[in-house]
Amino acid sequence: MHRLYVKEDITVFWDSDRCRHAKRCVTGCPKVFDFARRPWIDLSQDEMARIWQTIEKCPTGALSITYNHGIRVAYLEKEQRSVAYDGEREIGECRYQVTDEGWNIYHTEVDPAYGGKQIAKRLVFAVLEQAERKKAAVIPSCSYAARLLGS
Ligand code: SF4
Repeated sequence: MHRLYVKEDITVFWDSDRCRHAKRCVTGCPKVFDFARRPWIDLSQDEMARIWQTIEKCPTGALSITYNHGIRVAYLEKEQRSVAYDGEREIGECRYQVTDEGWNIYHTEVDPAYGGKQIAKRLVFAVLEQAERKKAAVIPSCSYAARLLGS
């Protein structure tokens, strides 16, 4: 399962496939990370500095965190893509096609001027989250998505 949680200029990534339940997140920030609650992550419950430090201690990479750098990511269902915007300007996208086999993620691209900001990861996670909510299989034919999914 892949989920994005956004607060102010921060995005938290959650990849349940990597979670080994060392529970460092729960002990580090119990108000934010609570496996008994849905959604289990609530970023409003503690200071960002403590949340950031806790996520950095996740031993498996199931949790990761990034600044948004003022870049907004939106999921556009009708266009079968997620898009990154700097103000009104489109600076990246992740495209997929709905097929009988599942959602084929076939293209992810970010303007090189915006490299190193984890925008591609946010774009792919936005599509993965929607596919999983619709219980669709994912076919990562784009090399970046394939790497992210470890396939
Ligand atoms: S610290 Fe990481 S691996 Fe451990 S329970 Fe939390 S998310 Fe899972």
